Amino acid sequence: MDAVTPSIQSVVSAGTGVKSVCPYCGVGCGLVAWQDGNRVKIKGDRTHPANFGLLCAKGTTLPDSLEEGRLLYPMMREHLDAPFERATWDQALTRITRHIQKTLAARGPQALCLYGSGQFHTEDYYVASKLFKGFLGTNNFDSNSRMCMSSAVSGYQRSLGSDGPPCSYEDLALAETFLLIGSNTAECHPIIFNRILAHQRRHPDRVRLITADPRRTRTAQQSDLWLGIQPGTDVALLNGMARICLERGWVDQEFVRHHTEGFDKLCQVLEAYAPARVADVCGIEVEQLIRATEWFARSPGSLSLWSMGLNQSTQGVAKVQSLINLHLLTGQISRPGAGPFSLTGQPNAMGGREVGGLANLLPGYRSVLSAQDRQFMEVFWKLPPGSIASQHGLSATEIIEGMESGDIQFLWIAATNPAVSMPDLERSRRAFRQSTLTVVQDAYFPLETADYAHILLPAAQWSEKTGCMTNSERRVSLSEQVRRPPGEAREDWAIFADVGCRLGFGDAFGFSHSAEVFAEFVQTTRDRVCDMHTLSHTRLKTEGPQQWPCIRTDGPGQPRLYTDRVFPTPSGRAQFHGWQCVPPAEQPDAEFPLTLTTGRLYGHWHTLTRTGKIAKLRQMHPGPFLEVHPEDACRLDIEDGEIIRVRSRRGEARIPAKLTSNIRTGTVFMPFHWGNLWGEGMSANTLTHGEIDTISLQPELKACAVRVEKIV
Ligand code: SF4
Repeated sequence: MDAVTPSIQSVVSAGTGVKSVCPYCGVGCGLVAWQDGNRVKIKGDRTHPANFGLLCAKGTTLPDSLEEGRLLYPMMREHLDAPFERATWDQALTRITRHIQKTLAARGPQALCLYGSGQFHTEDYYVASKLFKGFLGTNNFDSNSRMCMSSAVSGYQRSLGSDGPPCSYEDLALAETFLLIGSNTAECHPIIFNRILAHQRRHPDRVRLITADPRRTRTAQQSDLWLGIQPGTDVALLNGMARICLERGWVDQEFVRHHTEGFDKLCQVLEAYAPARVADVCGIEVEQLIRATEWFARSPGSLSLWSMGLNQSTQGVAKVQSLINLHLLTGQISRPGAGPFSLTGQPNAMGGREVGGLANLLPGYRSVLSAQDRQFMEVFWKLPPGSIASQHGLSATEIIEGMESGDIQFLWIAATNPAVSMPDLERSRRAFRQSTLTVVQDAYFPLETADYAHILLPAAQWSEKTGCMTNSERRVSLSEQVRRPPGEAREDWAIFADVGCRLGFGDAFGFSHSAEVFAEFVQTTRDRVCDMHTLSHTRLKTEGPQQWPCIRTDGPGQPRLYTDRVFPTPSGRAQFHGWQCVPPAEQPDAEFPLTLTTGRLYGHWHTLTRTGKIAKLRQMHPGPFLEVHPEDACRLDIEDGEIIRVRSRRGEARIPAKLTSNIRTGTVFMPFHWGNLWGEGMSANTLTHGEIDTISLQPELKACAVRVEKIV
């Protein structure tokens, strides 16, 4: 099917605008959007507390991504080597429904699987969760948030008793020390970084930035102290800082004594982390380690910000908990300007956590492993007892294993492009080819993952539907529809609900508007940490975005969690968990002597489905490259700009070398955005491996062993 320019029908009258939210990163910047002729236009929303009108290059150019390459109609084919043919919605959904019924009868609910996305609105997530976990009886509903945030989720739960960042963007103007660890905030969450720099400009004598990262990123370049640590040594670094706090008396004794548990065990772990050894392991100067610790521990307010550099690791949870240990030890938590603050990657990764968009979660921050939580949701959904499965569903990488083994007989992929974003991509692609029936539901076509689909369903996207998203600071915003979806595209929640009705669950899925879906969902949050039962589309439209918990109808939500120093653990105390530093799963060796780390670029988003269509952003970042330190380049006899081959045990890429001393020797970096639509050999994930953190099940996308070869 060719890309078609759809005919646009506005739902916003000329001259007015609606409130919306940028659908890229978890900063959750507010927009005002309106229709101008055939074009959607936007500007930053000056009243939105995330961005006060500011937008980065991605947000500014967002309307340019709406027209080109849209999937306008359902398409089907019998097998993966046949061409797609246009189908009606009825034909496509009948085929899906029959296949689900056949699979249920032959193999049971655990043979069904849905892989969703942090791009979903909360309403999309909720209906998908209700259908799969409730009415189909399988927890095999995971999302690309598994690749993004699941280590943060597990770390928060284990240390503080519940998921949910305890901090607020207000803290960006109150903290005096910022520890940016595993986060290239300047490029990946630019509006946050802007706010930090503005705060520092106002208080240059007080505000200090520390960045811990193997690369001297744009974030590190603008920091007061760069800790250029070896990849995978974050736990050693954080343990070393904690040990220095013990040695120098920088512990908040009152906080530790009255509000935490596990201090003695932590101290035993820290015995092995003498500063000199830590500096050696991390590859930094011991003076740098001590200075960073002093700034962090003795500051009136220390805020740590992290994202994928900690999460995407076989030690992801250990890294998150070691960071939280440091906050608990120094009392840098539960007060303004202080706390461990995870920056979510996707625009609604937080919403996904609220509605149970990971294979271990149920709506309202509930767990599939808890009999009480399952019982609550069964009663809420009017299901017979025992309807919700009591075991974890398959996580992202386990879905690949399920396809390989034949355990998965039906795969539904929505609003994500795993044929570019999965680790160990060749293996993932082979697994996708084994599928009996795969549905790909997306706004765009062509799409790398569509190569593995039997049925394509066109989805409405940003500006074409109304729904809620929650950003990194727990703020729920309503993103309103500006125009009707092109062609026959439909909202994701409406597609899931339609299938629910066709399967005979019409009483549970007869929603007529996303506002009804949201109204049902928020009732699952009543009296939970993420309580937002007072919110509705109407309230969000009239009063603006709100932070949860938001238990009053006549006042705003709560900017910070745990300000009473009571944590939602059985004892009410936060938990220290000491971890030993374990190297990444795949270590450099004689055959593959370099460590590859992967990441994002400022102007691009994930797998280029949107930003790849925007000329300005393509010019900004025309293609992938491999950052190599000049000393490594000299040894390998490669020059700047030369096309080189990067090999790992799983695959290879052919890309230009970019020589820079902003990366450690022995480490190379490649952005992960490009897939096969842009050419062969451009995908970073052909090189990465599928090893996961055994608690969060998040893959280690940040470190694998490679070698770089000159192409003769
Ligand atoms: S910072 Fe994130 S949410 Fe804000 S405009 Fe940029 S991409 Fe959008």
